[in-house]
Amino acid sequence: MEKNVTRAHNFNAGPGALPLTALEQAQAELLNFNGTGMSIMEHSHRGKDYDAVHNQAIALVKELLSVPEGYEVLFLQGGASLQFAMVPMNFLPAGKQAGYVMTGVWSEKAYEEAGKLGKAFIAASAKEGNYCRIPAFDEITYDAASAYLHITSNNTIYGTEWQAFPDSKGVPLIADMSSDILSRPIDVSKFALIYAGAQKNLGPSGVTVVIIRRDLLEQANQNLPTMLKYGTYAKDNSMYNTPPTFSIYMVKLMLEWVKAQGGAVAMEKRNRQKAALLYDIIDASNGFYQGHARPDARSLMNVTFRLPNQELEKKFLEQAKQAGFVGLNGHRLVGGCRASIYNAVPYESCQALGDLMLAFQKKNG
Ligand SMILES: *Cc1c(COP(=O)(O)O)cnc(C)c1O
Repeated sequence: MEKNVTRAHNFNAGPGALPLTALEQAQAELLNFNGTGMSIMEHSHRGKDYDAVHNQAIALVKELLSVPEGYEVLFLQGGASLQFAMVPMNFLPAGKQAGYVMTGVWSEKAYEEAGKLGKAFIAASAKEGNYCRIPAFDEITYDAASAYLHITSNNTIYGTEWQAFPDSKGVPLIADMSSDILSRPIDVSKFALIYAGAQKNLGPSGVTVVIIRRDLLEQANQNLPTMLKYGTYAKDNSMYNTPPTFSIYMVKLMLEWVKAQGGAVAMEKRNRQKAALLYDIIDASNGFYQGHARPDARSLMNVTFRLPNQELEKKFLEQAKQAGFVGLNGHRLVGGCRASIYNAVPYESCQALGDLMLAFQKKNG
């Protein structure tokens, strides 16, 4: 089928690219959802049309991430940033402490929030070397009495990612998976709680997905405002109040696309091909392109690299912009360039970027 839309090569770090088919379906249904003569945005969240969308989205998260029995999938607002506070509010009681593995800016923010609400300690840190690696499992301090251990599975700014997850030795493991959820299969049973702002790998901004083990809900602090208790969301199927209906609808469309592609296994295969294409160019460039992440910690989602000097970086970014590439500027804490290649970024966009990198080096190397 011929598509007369010109889509940008979108390497934005977040919100990220969405699948074309999901956008097209949203467009087709925008004025008249399901023959109702209304947009899904205009439907009551208590009506059967929205209810079906909501439950399909939850079912797809469960199916695609193989969420085992005994877990709840919740939809919250406030982004991953509110989770930085809700996790300790609910699960860090006085007299206990929580461990944080520091692998980047988002870990630091999570740790700082916990410190305002209770006692947090640094269980391991990769700060030395500007977060270019992930700590080895044996660097992590496991305090068996601690409330939980918090990790950030993918470090969006630095371009590092946990390649495997630690056995937290009975301590509940909590992960911020905002920038790599559903980019590969994971063993959810290793985690007590997973949270992710949807806007990188699951859909648009406005909704945060939380996967939580039910027994944890029972241990949560009950003495909290209603909207800050996970239990409120679990009890009412994330509909205690009005949920972000349009965002959840878009998540459903994106998850249907993931499913049609072959699910988490297919996502990982595709993501590995996309990332390898760029890392291979970096590695074969004789140092013209230098990756920030240590090779054993490289992210499949955020490829961070530098050029020989800032002048060339500026020139490269300028040419990329001219050629229609979006979002390649590195974060100011790392500098250089960053290509965020989330689930919905097509292989063809990575190929086009690879071609640009090769041509640029040939001319300027
Ligand atoms: C983007 C991001 C955040 C911040 O998410 P918000 O939804 O904007 O609060 C937190 N953690 C990670 C790993 C991220 O990539």
